[in-house]
Amino acid sequence: MAHKIGIIGFGKIAQDQHLPSIRKNPDFELIAVASQRGLKPDEAKHAFQDYREMLKAVPDLEAVAICTPPQVRHQIARDALLAGKSVLLEKPPAATLSELQDMKLMAQKAGKTLFTTWHAQYNKAVHEAKKALAGWEIKRLQVTWKEDVRHWHPGQQWIWEAGGFGVFDPGINALSIVSFIMPEPVFIKKADLQFPANRDAPIAADIQFSCAHGQGDLNAAFDWRQTGPQTWDIEVETANGLQLKLREGGTKLEIGGKLMVDEPSEEYEGIYACFDTLLNERTSLVDEAPFRLVADAFMIGRRVQVEAFED
Ligand code: NAP
Repeated sequence: MAHKIGIIGFGKIAQDQHLPSIRKNPDFELIAVASQRGLKPDEAKHAFQDYREMLKAVPDLEAVAICTPPQVRHQIARDALLAGKSVLLEKPPAATLSELQDMKLMAQKAGKTLFTTWHAQYNKAVHEAKKALAGWEIKRLQVTWKEDVRHWHPGQQWIWEAGGFGVFDPGINALSIVSFIMPEPVFIKKADLQFPANRDAPIAADIQFSCAHGQGDLNAAFDWRQTGPQTWDIEVETANGLQLKLREGGTKLEIGGKLMVDEPSEEYEGIYACFDTLLNERTSLVDEAPFRLVADAFMIGRRVQVEAFED
C-alpha cells in the first residue's frame, strides 16, 4: 500500500520538486497539505493552514515532508514525531546541530523514520565520483559554487535572516557532495564570511579545509553575486594524479578530461525512492556531516562586512 504523505510548507521546492516526485511515485499518495497561505494541489483531500490541525485531523497520515525554511523545522518535526508521523526534512535539516540531535533522539524514541535529505547527493555522477575516489589520498579540492541570488531566491527574505544561512543555503549542497565523495573526512580550517552591511547572513564565503591525513590544498568559494553563467563545480585531484570534475551541481562527471556521466537530474525521484525504503524498513537516515561543516564555518569563520545588498 502506498504511504500516505502530507507536505508542510507549500513554497517553491514543495511545488517544483516534492509534488511532481510524489505524483510520479506509486509508493506515495499525497493526502494532505499544510500551507499558511492556504495553497492546495487538487489531489490532496485535506488542506490546513496550521500544520498542527493536519497532524490532529488526519489519523491515516503516515509521514510528512517538511518544506519550510529551516528556522521553524525543529518545532514542526517535534510535533509530527509526537503525533506518530515519520518525517522527511528538506535541507538544511534544522537551524542548529542541537535541534537536529533532538529530532534524531525523538525519532528513535517514537520508533519513526527521520530522513535528512541532501538532494545533490542523488545524482549518478556523484555516486560514480565517490567510487572513483575511494581509497585515494586527495591532493587538491576546489569547490566553486557561484550563483545569482536574485534569480534563484526571488523575494525569499528568510535566507537573509539569522538562521537562514545566506550563501550556505546553496553552498550546503556542495558540502553535501564533498562529505559524500571524499574518501576521508574534511574539516573547516579557515572561513571568511562576507556579510552585506544590511543583512544577517553571508552573501559569499571562502573556505579552506583540512583533512585527517595529507597536506592537500582544499578550498571552496561560494558567492551569491554571480550574474551571467552560473557555476556549480567541484574539482578533485588525487595524489596519484587522478583528475576528477563534477559539473553543473553534480549532474556531470569528467575524469581525466573525459565525460563519464551526463544524466538529467532526478534528485527528488531518488529522495522519494530512498524514503520509501526507509519507511518500509522502519529505519532513519540522518546524515549530519554537511550541516556540521556549515556550523563549523560559522563557529570559526571571520566575519567581513561588505557592501549592502538590495534584492
Ligand atoms: P519558499 O519558497 O520560501 O517556501 C517555504 C514555504 O514554507 C513558504 O512558502 C511557506 O509556505 C512556508 N513557511 C514559511 N515560513 C513558515 C513558517 N514560519 N512556518 C511554517 N511554514 C512556513 O522556500 P523554498 O525555496 O521552497 O525553500 C524551502 C526549503 O527547501 C529551504 O530549506 C531550502 O533550502 C530548501 N530547498 C530549496 C530549493 C530551491 O530551489 N528553492 C532547492 C532545494 C532545497 P506556505 O505559505 O504554503 O505555508
